[in-house]
Parts: sequence; C-alpha cells; structure tokens
Amino acid sequence: MKQLFFMTMLFLTISYCSQKNSVIKAQRMEKASMKDFKMPKMKFEVEDKESSGSELYRKLVPDSEGLLTELTEEVIDAIYFKDSEVVPQPQEIKLVLYCQKDAVAATSSRNGRSLIRYSTDWIEKFYARANNDEAKVLNETKGVLLHELVHVFQLQPQGIGNYGGGGEYWLLIEGLADAVRVATGYFKPEDRPRGGEFKKGYRYSGFFLNWLREVKDKDFLRKLNLSTRTINPWSFDAAFKQILNDDNITLEALWDEYMTAIGDR
Ligand SMILES: [Zn+2]
Repeated sequence: MKQLFFMTMLFLTISYCSQKNSVIKAQRMEKASMKDFKMPKMKFEVEDKESSGSELYRKLVPDSEGLLTELTEEVIDAIYFKDSEVVPQPQEIKLVLYCQKDAVAATSSRNGRSLIRYSTDWIEKFYARANNDEAKVLNETKGVLLHELVHVFQLQPQGIGNYGGGGEYWLLIEGLADAVRVATGYFKPEDRPRGGEFKKGYRYSGFFLNWLREVKDKDFLRKLNLSTRTINPWSFDAAFKQILNDDNITLEALWDEYMTAIGDR
C-alpha cells in the first residue's frame, strides 16, 4: 500500500484561531485541459467551524470544490505534457479546514484518496501579517492549496530512499511544489528569498527551478517531474544533464549562474 505524507510547518507566534473579517470574490483562473485525465471527485469539509480563520476562508472561497478543480488543472498543466500520462489518478481529493497551531497544510494520499488539511491558524496569522488584506489571504490560500495539489500529482524519484529521509528526495518534492507556485503566479518576485543555497529547499529551490524554466527550457518543470520515470537512482545532477542535454552541466554551476543573473551575487 502506497502512502505519501507531506507537511508544511511554520513556527511563528501570533494569534490562534480567534475571530473577525470582510469580503472578496474568488477569481476564476485560466483553464488548462488534459484529454486523458479524469478529474477526481472534490470534497470539502469544515472541521473547525468556529474560528475567524474558518469564517474568513469560507467568505473568500465560496466554492472550494470548484477552486480545487481549477487548481488541479493548473497543476496538471504545469508538470505534465498534454499527451503524457498522469500516473497518480486519485478518485477523490478532500480538503479539510481544521485548526492546528503553527501548522500550514499537509497532504496524504492512500488507496486513491488524497486528503489535504489546511489550518485556520495559518489563515489568521497570514491575515494579520498582511495587514488584514483579504486579497492577499485569498492568493496565499490558492498558493498553499496549489502547492499541496502538486504533492498529489507529482511523480516520486526512484532509488534514493523516501521523503522522510530528506536529501534530494525531499528537495525535489518541495522544490517542484514551490516552483509550480512561482510559475503560476501564486508567489510573487518579492516572495523570493535572497541568496541562500539550493539545498535549503522550498522557495530557495522553487524560485531557482522556475528560473531554469524561464531561461533554459519552457518545459523544464514538466521534464523535471517526468525525469523520475527514466533516471534511477534519481539526482538533480542527472536530471539537469538530461533535460538541458549537456553532460558538462552541474547543479552548482547552474546555481552560480542563477545567483549572478538574479543579482544576489
Ligand atoms: Zn509541501
């Protein structure tokens, strides 16, 4: 039985599932389509009904099932070619709004069912941090859900252990999820962390991978996801060599080029 579990935790201290809010409409996004892809049944459940974060979410996202469908189309389009087979095909994706202190969101998949849990504590903290700007909360919510949906549909690297073992497995899973978020506009240029290292993961690797998509190959993220089918044991180095068709290319050299190009060095 295959079980996957990804978690995003942030360690901040502010409010904790308290109360208050106001209005904004969910924006419709450009639709992508996959001929062979069967959209899973989308479900939405509110476990935390009381908090202000829960109330704000439900005001900003009147149709959660519809939003999950739109974001799923964006994810599939970002990491697969139209004519390539999408291997993880869950029958159901359920979003649960719950309250857990210091948690953002987590995704698990088992037996064709994927569960995404999104914490109202994070919604409240983000709302406060964004000076009560509801449009920013909606964008953050879409970005978080899109990141989690990448985890539902991305392919797993072979021959290098598992997600819990960290290393390049973890870097690929989280880096690709954040790269898709950058590519689809749910992270803005100002969200890019300055400097750092590729192995710090998340946005560090996500913005870098998206830069490779922008300057080296427009299909970079799709090819990176699909490289896990042919490279075993998988590595970024091997994937970059394959995708960019250059045996002399290295992760280190590309990172240096990125740092210079982006003006961080
Ligand atoms: Zn993640």
